[in-house]
Amino acid sequence: MPTTTNKDYYALLGVKKTATSDEIRKAFRKAARRYHPDVNPGDKKAEEKFKEISEANDILSDEKKRKVYDQLGFYSDQIDPAQAEAYARQQGAGGRPPVDFGGFDFSGFSGGGSPHAGAGSGPGTPGWGSFKDIFSGIFSGAQQPGRPRGPQPGSDLEYQATVDFWTAIRGGQARLQVNRQETCPTCHGHAQAGGPVQCSECNGSGQVTQMGGRMKFNIACPRCHGTGRAPNACSTCHGEGVVGRAEAVEFRIKAGTRDGQRIRLQGKGNAGGNGGPAGDLYLIVRTGTHPVFTRMGDDIQLTVPVTVPEASLGAKVDVPTIEGRAQLKIPPGTQSGQKLRMRERGVESAQHPGQRGDQIVTVSVVVPHLQDERSREIMRELAKLNSQDPRVTLFDKL
Ligand SMILES: [Zn+2]
Ligand SMILES: [Zn+2]
Repeated sequence: MPTTTNKDYYALLGVKKTATSDEIRKAFRKAARRYHPDVNPGDKKAEEKFKEISEANDILSDEKKRKVYDQLGFYSDQIDPAQAEAYARQQGAGGRPPVDFGGFDFSGFSGGGSPHAGAGSGPGTPGWGSFKDIFSGIFSGAQQPGRPRGPQPGSDLEYQATVDFWTAIRGGQARLQVNRQETCPTCHGHAQAGGPVQCSECNGSGQVTQMGGRMKFNIACPRCHGTGRAPNACSTCHGEGVVGRAEAVEFRIKAGTRDGQRIRLQGKGNAGGNGGPAGDLYLIVRTGTHPVFTRMGDDIQLTVPVTVPEASLGAKVDVPTIEGRAQLKIPPGTQSGQKLRMRERGVESAQHPGQRGDQIVTVSVVVPHLQDERSREIMRELAKLNSQDPRVTLFDKL
């Protein structure tokens, strides 16, 4: 198989890699004067040296050719600077050894030849790795040779969890159905079942044919990396290593948990890959409602109906609280819609232990439907005794 070794053109001309085109031209002239066959008649070594410096000058004095050479360490008319740059980028990312021409198949030059003419460079040949990379980089575009994946952490999950009104206040256990990815029970996250099977891309040969311009190359199969064997994907998880599963997650609710509060359940997110840690599960608590009580943070609100005599004369009435009945004093002359505060009758705070919210009562005065003449008489009499017009201020402000 024909092979080529890379030459250091800069060293041949005795210039730095950063040399300007002017410096290169001067260096070539100086070397040419020294090794020119006319100056050294019959000196085979000098003749060889002159050929080398001429080649170096040919490449380095041409901006396009120099660019390719700088990127790849060799020059070929088949490769343009953009391709060379793409290759160099990949090279930089992978930190691969310098380019090795071993394994080239030049069969394309003679207009044919078997696609596998270069089969002498089988799997395991030294230098195969860099050979593989040069083609995956230049000739197959963005195709990146698949490197073995390391442990992958699982992703986090976020769910809304509606918690019963009383559980949020008193604390307790709650459950939620969560769809999460868990480690595949068949392959235990390895994503493979049994030993490797024949690679379907190269039919086990380890090699595929790639075209590069007018050249034809046999290269290591990008799928199996030249081994001819591919992993046998687990049939349960289709090679993912994880499977989706609905799971009932049980979690503890602290007394006084508020609406919108976040609960973090470590390791209850999606399973990681290749032994990576699982993600976390975040629960956003939505507190349930109640027909009588409305929760506002640590406070409880409710509306309490009172009669006209209670509102007018004042009274002590029984009202419900989250801990049972309690007495509320209605001051004389209480208006409908007025709010009365019952201190520390609200929810025990989850954030500030020992503190409690209040209960805020909205008074709703219930006007009686008078059914009998005696009651209507009393009401008319009352109106005579209290003849103030409650609407007078409305007109005052006009
Ligand atoms: Zn293959
Ligand atoms: Zn599996």
